[in-house]
Amino acid sequence: MATATESKTVHSAMVTYASMLLLLSLCPPFVILLWYTMVHADGSVAQTWNFLKQHGLQGFIEIWPRPTATAWKIIFVYGAFEAALQLFLPGKRVEGPISPTGNRPVYKANGVAAYFVTLVTYIGLWWFGIFNPTVVYDHLGEIFSALIFGSLIFCIFLYIKGHLAPSSTDSGSSGNIIIDFYWGMELYPRIGKNFDIKVFTNCRFGLMSWAVLAVTYCIKQYELNGKVADSMLVNTILMLVYVTKFFWWEDGYWNTMDIAHDRAGFYICWGCLVWVPSVYTSPGMYLVNHPVNLGTQLALYILLAGILCIYINYDCDRQRQEFRRTNGKCRVWGKAPSKIEATYTTSGETKTSLLLTSGWWGLSRHFHYVPEILAAFFWTVPALFNHFLPYFYVVFLTILLFDRAERDDDRCRSKYGKYWKLYCNKVPYKILPGIY
Ligand code: NDP
Repeated sequence: MATATESKTVHSAMVTYASMLLLLSLCPPFVILLWYTMVHADGSVAQTWNFLKQHGLQGFIEIWPRPTATAWKIIFVYGAFEAALQLFLPGKRVEGPISPTGNRPVYKANGVAAYFVTLVTYIGLWWFGIFNPTVVYDHLGEIFSALIFGSLIFCIFLYIKGHLAPSSTDSGSSGNIIIDFYWGMELYPRIGKNFDIKVFTNCRFGLMSWAVLAVTYCIKQYELNGKVADSMLVNTILMLVYVTKFFWWEDGYWNTMDIAHDRAGFYICWGCLVWVPSVYTSPGMYLVNHPVNLGTQLALYILLAGILCIYINYDCDRQRQEFRRTNGKCRVWGKAPSKIEATYTTSGETKTSLLLTSGWWGLSRHFHYVPEILAAFFWTVPALFNHFLPYFYVVFLTILLFDRAERDDDRCRSKYGKYWKLYCNKVPYKILPGIY
């Protein structure tokens, strides 16, 4: 069995434990405070701070909404609908990358269909007066509260399943309960043979909820003001373009760190079930009550800049995957790609991976994070600069991706040894060409 601690040793053990405990205890209240500030405190951190100063812990307990029957119903119906789409919609058979213990997960690539059916159903329900998405916005605090507790219980289930009934040999314990709970135990947990839990939590629940909530915020502003401000339109369109890109490329996502290296625990699963719907959608949540008017020209410039960044981010991922899929026999920016043939040993076997050193991957080793962060900036900037909180996601994403670049470099260094060193000599910058 592989150990769950591999690739998690970038920071010292002390820092690792402290940050895990800090994140486990601070993330849930943060989600509630973020929602409260956006929806009830005008997006002003100072207003929430003053409230907490005046009312203390009792005040905080009072603003924490209790999960209601309506909230559970919304979550359950949405989750069951997405699970059914994942299981039953047709899709091509796709193989994931070979795992450390030699397993190759098989998926059904029906993400685009699920995305399309979800949005058409949701907007259709509103259009025909069957269900009003403003109900979701009006119960958002209760929904987040229910998600916080429900997802914690779900992570306990993953922990127990990892111990008692792992789905494959890509599972194992680090011997430490906190690490096992936080980082997870199983790489590819499944229910039965076909229902992949990480595809559900990360893609079909998490990323899908991003699109559903973006539409919800737009509809809420429309119902409040009788029109949608251009700032809200830019924000919603960019977020939808981003999520559309995600589902278009979903089988590529199954080759990334989230799926192929990070195990199913609090970090990935709780993050996708709670943090994505709340924090990732927060710029739109803010705009509901702040219908900023940008003017057509400025709105269009921001929209185009955002779409360009999303495209470049997509093209970076596409380039790497096309390069790997064709075994280096492709064109990169019109030329034969330059590459390193990196050999490594796994389970006693020697294997070779190709590392692309031209195109986007020749600019820096994680250049794809630059357009990812800029795209987030462009769908947030319609909120202008009256408050900091809408920018929280951009700041969080920047920290997350800089840390991820560190983790990934560390993992690749131990996997490829001298070949990674060669790559670092050839492409010396980690993220920002010429700077970092
Ligand atoms: P990727 O998994 O796409 O890339 C890293 C992996 O690619 C490495 O572990 C290595 O794996 C391989 N690799 C590294 N360098 C090269 C190279 N030069 N040539 C070929 N293969 C290489 O990274 P991420 O999962 O971090 O990112 C995927 C996408 O998800 C990006 O678009 C990113 O912006 C986005 N993302 C978004 C987040 C969000 O919260 N919004 C969070 C994280 C990512 P191997 O072992 O196979 O060699």
